[in-house]
Amino acid sequence: MRGVLSGGGHGASGDVDGLILLRTGLLNEVEMRAQERVARVGAGVKWGQVPAAAGPLGLTGLCGSAIRSTVRSAVS
Ligand SMILES: Cc1cc2nc3c(=O)[nH]c(=O)nc-3n(C[C@H](O)[C@H](O)[C@H](O)COP(=O)(O)OP(=O)(O)OC[C@H]3O[C@@H](n4cnc5c(N)ncnc54)[C@H](O)[C@@H]3O)c2cc1C
Repeated sequence: MRGVLSGGGHGASGDVDGLILLRTGLLNEVEMRAQERVARVGAGVKWGQVPAAAGPLGLTGLCGSAIRSTVRSAVS
């Protein structure tokens, strides 16, 4: 039995018969270390959460237009 990761599901496609779908939505922690200019995000963090957390610190992160897709899937 194979497993496949599912973030926001925005790019979902293909045949998933026989697969276990692993949803990452609850791994949604965002940690910003402004002085180091580092962001640490969980596997289920959606892009919309990043500017919301970074903006008050004067930082931002580049993302696509689909803010409900996860950060991790965009770099996988
Ligand atoms: C029809 C279509 C229209 C699109 N339109 C837009 C658009 O308008 N704007 C835009 O910005 N983007 C668009 N996209 C691109 C889409 O946003 C990306 O595919 C994005 O990566 C999807 O994110 P998601 O979190 O929904 O991932 P999912 O769709 O859930 O997964 C995408 C891939 O990432 C893998 N993955 C998910 N989570 C993890 C993880 N934690 N670790 C490793 N791998 C992981 C999955 O296994 C899968 O292979 C579109 C895609 C499609 C198919």
